[in-house]
Amino acid sequence: MILIVGAGLAGLSTAYHLEGIPYRLYERESEVGGLCRSYRKDGFTFDYTGHLLHFRQPPIKALVEQLLADKLRKHDRKSFIYSHRTYTEYPFQVNIHGLPPEVVRECVMGFITTLLHPAAVSAPKDHSFKQWIMENLGEGIAKHFMIPFNEKLWKVSLDELTSDWVSWLVPKPELKDVINGALGIKDKAFGYNPSFLYPASGGISILPESFLPHITGVTTSIELLEVDTKRRLARFQDRRRGTTITEHYESLVSTIPIPELVRRCLDMPTYLKAAAEELRWVSVYNLNMAVAREQVSDKHWLYFPEPEFPFYRVGFPMNFSPSLGRPGCSSMYVEISHRPTEHQSVDQLTAQARAGLEQVGILRPSDDIVVSDAKDLHYAYVYFDHHRVRAIPAILSELERRGIYSIGRYGRWEHTSMEDAIGQGRHLAERLRMEQDQALSA
Ligand SMILES: Cc1cc2nc3c(=O)[nH]c(=O)nc-3n(C[C@H](O)[C@H](O)[C@H](O)COP(=O)(O)OP(=O)(O)OC[C@H]3O[C@@H](n4cnc5c(N)ncnc54)[C@H](O)[C@@H]3O)c2cc1C
Repeated sequence: MILIVGAGLAGLSTAYHLEGIPYRLYERESEVGGLCRSYRKDGFTFDYTGHLLHFRQPPIKALVEQLLADKLRKHDRKSFIYSHRTYTEYPFQVNIHGLPPEVVRECVMGFITTLLHPAAVSAPKDHSFKQWIMENLGEGIAKHFMIPFNEKLWKVSLDELTSDWVSWLVPKPELKDVINGALGIKDKAFGYNPSFLYPASGGISILPESFLPHITGVTTSIELLEVDTKRRLARFQDRRRGTTITEHYESLVSTIPIPELVRRCLDMPTYLKAAAEELRWVSVYNLNMAVAREQVSDKHWLYFPEPEFPFYRVGFPMNFSPSLGRPGCSSMYVEISHRPTEHQSVDQLTAQARAGLEQVGILRPSDDIVVSDAKDLHYAYVYFDHHRVRAIPAILSELERRGIYSIGRYGRWEHTSMEDAIGQGRHLAERLRMEQDQALSA
């Protein structure tokens, strides 16, 4: 029997692609989707912060389009950065036109310096994120966007992070692109997501739900408590009934955060348990708000690098799909990162968000906030640091030796997208099918 733990996209995709092979899928929450979920409140639909689809893998795009048939709409990205009291288009490094001239000069000169004095080539894991920024984008872009934005998001010095994850998330431009951006010339879309897909209605949760008619054996409200990896026994709690269930497995596919998994594996070596406990991450408050005024913004989402704003990003679901809002109103998601051990109340978050949004001019003092609701995304962004480089491969290979495959964004401790989570589930299911075929024919 294959046991799958967690019905986010990675777990659902594993089940979908195991077709014909017996499995059971257990999910702790009362609904499937994990981070890729939506909920309704007072006539508004909110995701657990904005979730937009962009694809780099044709087979995954084809699968999602098949699952969601004609339910997706394509949008050309309207995403901007607010700094120096003005909006410039995202990504910052190729759109600096409109900023004060001395800022534009610092950014262009800094970028040219990186080309005149290129850094010695070495492995990305040996470079700190800060070094990567300075060496690839230059001092000006670092000072006016990359460092303040990322320090606000990560809540840690960028010297502590490695740069082995940045290449596709932070595109390095050519000189022509930076110059064109400084002069306001636009001849191409830049970045990893110039357009995106989003459901016409229902929010992003229609994606995980679209797997359900094709899979069986999914049980919700069942939480993994502990694993005896020697005897291959997993113990679960049925949260509705308050009872426990013990299952034997040949393979266990876990998509839960890896520190949680290792903590539950009673007989893992102590040094690996300690290594898992030392993994670091940042949490995010997803504050979902609605106000009784139409079209407070015509944009999809905005980035805020400056420290006077508590949030690093704000998005507007009503501009992804009008069906997510109420007539005469606007809805928004405000993202505020925090250390996992620090906590704030909804009232505190709302007061800070309101003050910042009024300062930018998105909200007015007269605006009536009709919804304000916060979700704490406990594991949001994992840290790529020197500890992760050593710990994750060692933990994953020891788990595999014991028949446990840890996949997904937090199972592999990565910055991956919905597409990647689906892709990892597909890849692992194919591997397990092959291994089973080989065992049968042996
Ligand atoms: C702030 C933010 C914004 C994002 N925006 C985008 C975006 O715009 N586009 C994009 O493509 N991606 C985005 N992502 C990434 C995307 O959300 C993830 O890559 C994807 O949803 C991960 O799916 P998963 O199955 O790996 O993990 P998860 O969704 O975390 O699923 C894990 C599941 O395991 C369950 N679980 C946990 N513990 C237990 C237990 N003990 N027992 C049983 N079940 C358990 C959880 O309830 C959950 O359902 C964003 C992520 C964040 C943090």
